[in-house]
Amino acid sequence: MVVYKKRILRNNQICEIILDNLKENDNIVKKEDLVKRLINWASLSTIYRGISRLEKKGLIVAFDAANDKYIAYIGDRSNKSLDLAFFVCDVCHQRFWLKLSNTTLEKIKREIKKLYDFDSKFVLYEFHGVCKSCLLSKKSNSLNLKKEEINHENSSYANR
Ligand SMILES: [Zn+2]
Repeated sequence: MVVYKKRILRNNQICEIILDNLKENDNIVKKEDLVKRLINWASLSTIYRGISRLEKKGLIVAFDAANDKYIAYIGDRSNKSLDLAFFVCDVCHQRFWLKLSNTTLEKIKREIKKLYDFDSKFVLYEFHGVCKSCLLSKKSNSLNLKKEEINHENSSYANR
């Protein structure tokens, strides 16, 4: 029976550690990174068991974004949900995300609740496009190109 107690404790501990890790990382982590951080503390099966226990409790949500697995802490918010905008740059493959708070979203969720009797706890928007730094480097590239064109024009003008 001591072994049984130990196992319970370990499961509770792993849940606490997972939640701590999520909170330290602004409530969203890549599953792969979480496992890497916790693998020295617990076995892979204990970590996965902890994740599924927290999922069943409704404290976290596991989701796929841009072909990767993520975990987000949604907490015990009774009538609130986590609305996440996930951005993927198709040029440099950088990902970043924002938590949204918008009254239009609240309205949609209320409508969904009314129409389908579905309580939204987590809403994910995935945006694919070009990030700021890629846009800037694209712009400066085209500026350089223009400069070269101008230089070329100037030189051809000078050769006349
Ligand atoms: Zn980019």
